[in-house]
Amino acid sequence: MEIACLDLEGVLIPEIWIAFAEETGIEELRATTRDIPDYDVLMRQRLSILDQNGLGLNEIQKVISRLTPLDGAVEFVDWLRERFQVIILSDTFYEFSQPLMRQLGFPTLLCHKLEVDDNGKVIDYRLRQVNPKRQAVLALKTLYYRIIAAGDSYNDTTMLAEADAGILFSAPDNVIAEFPEFPAVHTYNDLKKAFIAASNRELSLSGEN
Ligand SMILES: [Mg+2]
Repeated sequence: MEIACLDLEGVLIPEIWIAFAEETGIEELRATTRDIPDYDVLMRQRLSILDQNGLGLNEIQKVISRLTPLDGAVEFVDWLRERFQVIILSDTFYEFSQPLMRQLGFPTLLCHKLEVDDNGKVIDYRLRQVNPKRQAVLALKTLYYRIIAAGDSYNDTTMLAEADAGILFSAPDNVIAEFPEFPAVHTYNDLKKAFIAASNRELSLSGEN
């Protein structure tokens, strides 16, 4: 059998920190791993900005609860789940993802965790493990599943490389240029076709298989 591993932000839902930066007007929260490559430095900066602005988990969740999945994402996930076992591998946090995962029908999600005190202040974060996306694919392969993975950015490329087939979805030009070994698509319809092409089974775009 085959498992589809999907990145979350930028593939099915908007970038949460960027959406939160836009809602709050706090420019510094727009920084991503492209600006600050060390994830720990980036997260420490985010936590200290939240603290300085008196923003805690409740305020963040309130903003996130108004977000919706990307156009077509719900239908795409439904399509994929009829054909594959679907696992979302994300660098987000369970505490952020809940409202958006509800709209996606709660597919299995492996991601990180925040530490929050009784007043809702975010005091720390816990990474699930080092190189979490690649390790998840590696673990699933020990169960003899064939893995097809899709993601949009640098933090997905080790997952794509470890999978039996990797697909770039809606990736920026520099990522596409740097990783020409992965097919790059930009619409959910083309992503469906890429999954069909990568599968070792006879699947169709429409119908039940
Ligand atoms: Mg992403």
